[in-house]
Amino acid sequence: MKKNYDAIIIGGGIAGLATAFNLAKMNFGDILILEKELFVGAGATAKCAGGIRAQFSSKVNIEISSKSIEVFENFESITGEPALYDQVGYTFLLTEESTVEPYIKAAELQQSLGLDIKILSADDIKELAPPVRTDDIIKATYHSRDGLGDPHEYLQGYFRASKKAGVEILTEAPVTGIAIESGKITKVTTPKGDFETALVINAAGPYAKLIGDMVDIRIPIEPYRRQIVTSGALDFIPPTMPMVVDVSSGLYCHKESKGLLMGWADKDVPAGFDESQDPDYNDNILMRALDRIPQLETAEVANSWAGLYETTPDHHAIIGFYKEVEGFFTIGGFSGHGFMHAPGAGIVAAEIICGKKPSIDITRLAPGRFADGSGEEEINVI
Ligand SMILES: Cc1cc2nc3c(=O)[nH]c(=O)nc-3n(C[C@H](O)[C@H](O)[C@H](O)COP(=O)(O)OP(=O)(O)OC[C@H]3O[C@@H](n4cnc5c(N)ncnc54)[C@H](O)[C@@H]3O)c2cc1C
Repeated sequence: MKKNYDAIIIGGGIAGLATAFNLAKMNFGDILILEKELFVGAGATAKCAGGIRAQFSSKVNIEISSKSIEVFENFESITGEPALYDQVGYTFLLTEESTVEPYIKAAELQQSLGLDIKILSADDIKELAPPVRTDDIIKATYHSRDGLGDPHEYLQGYFRASKKAGVEILTEAPVTGIAIESGKITKVTTPKGDFETALVINAAGPYAKLIGDMVDIRIPIEPYRRQIVTSGALDFIPPTMPMVVDVSSGLYCHKESKGLLMGWADKDVPAGFDESQDPDYNDNILMRALDRIPQLETAEVANSWAGLYETTPDHHAIIGFYKEVEGFFTIGGFSGHGFMHAPGAGIVAAEIICGKKPSIDITRLAPGRFADGSGEEEINVI
């Protein structure tokens, strides 16, 4: 194994692998991914619900989604690796007057950026998602190019394509230190040895801030526990059922292995790396799900798990070089949307690193933005 690389990527999750693949495609040079776990994709990516959508409230998030959706739709022709993008769409149910105006405003922005967003009625939802209780729905938004993907399948696709393109990957190699000389990165330390480099790409997901600590940079990406419950097989969930987001209760659900996957974000949970499951959390998810889909009364729990969101104060990712240390780049802080945003973000990150003009203006995602007050928050966070 070489001891000197043009770029070292810390983290073999979907963000690290998408960046590696795109850098390799742009012939960046010798690239090494260092992953602390035994396998790539064992972090937040393994816990992901697989939702992919363009329905966001900020321009940059919509644009990254649109770019990513193009990649999800054409993954095999881009990477040479097959992966299924099940475009069942996403619908956001609006049951309180206070949510209608901001979601319709966001839908108008999405439409102005070229997306075919529909505003639906309760009757439309009855047809689109028959098990859903619709009596309180005022309006709903819907985008048919949104949908579901298997995070493992896409991650493995990027993994294999990156390896074929010459990227090296070392697992069980936690980065424990980053050396700096005269303000420039020189070396990365792991228990498996030191590796020289002038460029470190921090793609450590919920652990990104700990990588920042190694170079004395405060990265405001905090880990927050989120949980998911899946049901056993249910004969009333049609294969065309879209991802349903109940905006007021915070419940989201989609079809999964002949049953349903259900999630809910407890916004009161404190920041921390704890991934143990809280049974109250599961009860809370099920209570909300039962309220929206009464037929779930007979459902049995098949599986449940907890994972970490990687959240920034304004719910936008951080993508770019930090000015304080030469050669320190971060891609992360997707605030729970890193799977759906990684394909587009990986392209833009690689373009910036290669010195090209990024195909999306991501000034809004600049690492330094928090010093002088960050911009508007993304409201469409679940
Ligand atoms: C319950 C849940 C549901 C979700 N649902 C969705 C969804 O539907 N759609 C969506 O788009 N997103 C969803 N997300 C968010 C999504 O999973 C993440 O945004 C995304 O996986 C982040 O990818 P990443 O590569 O940045 O991080 P990760 O996948 O966590 O990868 C980072 C990697 O860095 C490694 N690492 C950390 N520290 C070090 C170190 N010191 N040295 C070496 N390696 C290190 C970790 O082991 C890990 O493999 C969900 C998340 C959770 C928890």
